[in-house]
Amino acid sequence: MSPRRFARLALEDGRRVFAELAEGEARLLSSAPWEGGALTGERLGGVDDEGRSAGTRRLTPATPTKIVCVGRNYRAHASELGNDVPVEPLLFFKPPSSLLDPDGTIELPPSSISGRVDHEAELAVIIGRRTRRATDAEAAAAVFGLTAAGDITARDLQKKDGQWTRAKGMDTFCPVGPVVVSGLPWDALGVRCRVNGALRQDGSTRDLVFSVPALVAYVSQVMTLEPGDLILTGTPAGVGPLVDGDELVIEIDGIGALTARVAAAAAEG
Ligand code: ZN
Repeated sequence: MSPRRFARLALEDGRRVFAELAEGEARLLSSAPWEGGALTGERLGGVDDEGRSAGTRRLTPATPTKIVCVGRNYRAHASELGNDVPVEPLLFFKPPSSLLDPDGTIELPPSSISGRVDHEAELAVIIGRRTRRATDAEAAAAVFGLTAAGDITARDLQKKDGQWTRAKGMDTFCPVGPVVVSGLPWDALGVRCRVNGALRQDGSTRDLVFSVPALVAYVSQVMTLEPGDLILTGTPAGVGPLVDGDELVIEIDGIGALTARVAAAAAEG
């Protein structure tokens, strides 16, 4: 079966809906597809396969209860920051408050908080069913689909703080989208990052240290994964700084391009 594509859209009338994208249409669903959302019969025309259309706005294609991330899951990226590859997956969280819709704006913190914010382009997994203590085979079956994400990171705080909560958890530091694709094999997808059109990261999920099912199984040993939860699978080499005015594009084969602008924090008070 060919992969299926899903988006979450803000409509002109104010509704926020999940939709399946096919044949230039958005076919609205009664709820998220991983919650058994059914076709309502309502359709919007003139929609491309990344969910773009006049009069609607694209939203993060999932609304997770948690976002679990994996550090140093590509050998070349671990070594570019002077680290070894961990013997077990290295987990951390981003809070749901860090989520950013496609075409949104990453807000840089004031320079008094951080002076170095980096891009990290990553494949993200959307969980399709409640999962606890899964085997690798159960974990593979628990994956609903895939999307693109940015693990935006205040690198100076990551080095300074023992925990990465501040470095990884700021508002707007988790752009996700533009669509969720189900039925797409995850083992050899190109993961690229461009800043102002220049290619900064160019990796492939074939170089993941821990595979998608291995990660889902590992996380599920310690916490229950809920439908719609996200797992960010780590970033390939080439991370680098973002500055005010940059345009960030995270691109994954078979999924599409996730774009965000970068802006300095608005002056306060
Ligand atoms: Zn990362």
